[in-house]
Amino acid sequence: MKTSSPTPITFTIDRQNRAPSAQMEEALKDLPHIAQLASKDTSWPIQGHIQIKVSTPQTMLTDMRKAHEGDPRIPGKFNQIKVKIAHFKPFSSGKFKEVHGLAHRNQATNQNFIVINDIKGLSADVIKHSLYHELIHIGQFQNHPDSYKEIQKLGILHLVSNNVFGHNSTESNTILNTLNKKYLKIFEGQATRLNEIHDNHYFPNQSIQPAEKKPNFISAKINLVNRFEKNKLGNPHKEGAAFFADKSVVAPDVNRHFIIQLSDEEQAIISKVEKKLDEGKIPFRAPDISLNPFSIISKVHEAEKAHTRMDLGLK
Ligand SMILES: [Zn+2]
Repeated sequence: MKTSSPTPITFTIDRQNRAPSAQMEEALKDLPHIAQLASKDTSWPIQGHIQIKVSTPQTMLTDMRKAHEGDPRIPGKFNQIKVKIAHFKPFSSGKFKEVHGLAHRNQATNQNFIVINDIKGLSADVIKHSLYHELIHIGQFQNHPDSYKEIQKLGILHLVSNNVFGHNSTESNTILNTLNKKYLKIFEGQATRLNEIHDNHYFPNQSIQPAEKKPNFISAKINLVNRFEKNKLGNPHKEGAAFFADKSVVAPDVNRHFIIQLSDEEQAIISKVEKKLDEGKIPFRAPDISLNPFSIISKVHEAEKAHTRMDLGLK
């Protein structure tokens, strides 16, 4: 009898010429095991090669730009901007949040990326928690590539709708809501729910050193959390986890949630904005700062720079 075993998962770790923290090194050593857990807990194959970049908020911004250079579907300045799946880890107070991990799959080259921020004061288990979360996203991208493609498209169309029809236009709001309530809710919901189910057992030490609760991420926090709440969009991690609370997060049951149904109204607006993108004449205004991780990272970057300057000033 012939059995075909799936391609084993391999990792390349790019430390980007910096020495990561001991906690980061400890978490990275556990990657093959964490990937096994993610695959077992979803019942999805998660395979192939994954590039892990150990990052800082600054280099995360550069990576996000680079990942989309030369995408032929995106004209001009839109070439640099795209929505990615980003994970935000709350500080121990539960109040401050910052970008901790990102997952991305380049559909054209089938390359998988995880960017993980090395932030001082995080235990190895906090980092493992985020790696597990991002690996579940990679599993989602590999097993539901069409829905992930829609997420990427809607991110671009949201920017287009802001520029063509205006912020808070029906077009912009509909696209943002569709992205958030239909797609991100499922993607983030499953990953967050799996964290809820397994974290206590797998990664029990979720401690964050209080000394690291510096206010250098305030801009990012304001941008992210308030936008979700101010626009009454809800937080897709939180709302998604609640959605899955009484549902299976394991394949094959979970698969049906990734086949996303849109209303006629949503469909019509998406087509209308897509047409504008195809025409390629988009008046690019200020970089958008709504649900776009690109801008969140810029804010982190700015805040970090301000903090560094403050440090220097004190010396
Ligand atoms: Zn996520």
